[in-house]
Amino acid sequence: MAQNRALPLPHMKHSSSTVIPISAVGRAHPAVAVPEIAVPATGQLLDRLGRPLTDLRISVTDRCNFRCSYCMPKDVFDKDYQYLPHSALLSFEEMTRLARLFASHGVRKIRLTGGEPLLRKNIEGLITQLAEIRTPAGEPLALTLTTNGSLLRRKAAALQSAGLQRVTVSLDSLDDAVFRHMNDVDFPVADVLAGIDAALAAGMGPIKVNMVVKRGTNEQEILPMARYFREQHGGKVVLRFIEYMDVGATNGWRMDEVLPSAEVIARIHAEFPLVPLQASAPGETAQRWAYADGGGEIGVISSVTQAFCGDCNRARLSTEGQLYLCLFATQGHDLRSLIRGGAPDEEIASAIAHIWQGRADRYSQLRGSMAPDTGTGKRRVEMSYIGG
Ligand code: SAM
Repeated sequence: MAQNRALPLPHMKHSSSTVIPISAVGRAHPAVAVPEIAVPATGQLLDRLGRPLTDLRISVTDRCNFRCSYCMPKDVFDKDYQYLPHSALLSFEEMTRLARLFASHGVRKIRLTGGEPLLRKNIEGLITQLAEIRTPAGEPLALTLTTNGSLLRRKAAALQSAGLQRVTVSLDSLDDAVFRHMNDVDFPVADVLAGIDAALAAGMGPIKVNMVVKRGTNEQEILPMARYFREQHGGKVVLRFIEYMDVGATNGWRMDEVLPSAEVIARIHAEFPLVPLQASAPGETAQRWAYADGGGEIGVISSVTQAFCGDCNRARLSTEGQLYLCLFATQGHDLRSLIRGGAPDEEIASAIAHIWQGRADRYSQLRGSMAPDTGTGKRRVEMSYIGG
């Protein structure tokens, strides 16, 4: 019943002016194998490197209202860009069904992402459904969402009452001109800050703020951001600095625009002394640091200079139900076809188990040796499609 369908990627324009035609980047979705002997859900699934599956990221839309050049550059994601049609997106019922099966295999945490997840109509309805899922031990899932914050002020209370416990807000600058330049749609920073305040007022927390640092673009904002979030919210907001990543194939990534986390830490440490903290959970993406004066903590995500796959416990479900085992994978596994082909829960759960148990990749660590387009037609997926 599996459908093989090309991902409707647009004509790609590289900032280096290389134009890669759409036919070269189409992506087929091969059928997912259902094991003949069912793999029972035991509440823990280990891959071939012994890594458990505990976190699932679900991309709920491939659309975004920002055009950050490192993620959805305007020259590619323009008015002619073909987003997925609504019928291609997983419905909330399909997402919830899959989430329940993932929970039976040991997933404890779900992060909704995108595109911009708050653009998906009635996202609160999805959160309500996900909040009803229980782990095999009878616990609710940890539910969180990553957003650009543009709609957060309006939606924070409704999201919280639907069952959203936490939120991560992406914010690259406090300086309005720099922020408007980076989101490339002239969106004012004050509205995002008001969204963070609204999420805190609604009782969500701790809130994380993610800043992608691009050398030469917003590095001068590192200290103002650190200062603001230390002083403003009494430790309830944890600021994290993300290295600008070579994800996808449209952002024209260059190593000389990466500001290594070690440099971020050094700059902050010179002004506000820091001490290292232990990871709070296995597989945590950020390295944590505390202000020595007790003024809260920060994190750094060194996905370029210290990529490490050894304890990666995350899977990603794309907007159209492709299961990806890594942000840098070139191929997903088509769970939507199984669902829409009428497969029963046991078959889908078995297929998920089979996929995870076969996982041995360390794409993130090894990607230095892979080109964005390998020349084999295998092209990295865009972050807006797979979910950040
Ligand atoms: N629209 C939501 C948002 O802005 O948070 C969710 C999706 S966005 C793809 C998720 C995260 O990925 C954001 O924090 C964004 O800054 C980050 N991101 C996107 N492209 C990136 C890149 N090339 N390097 C590092 N982080 C990136």
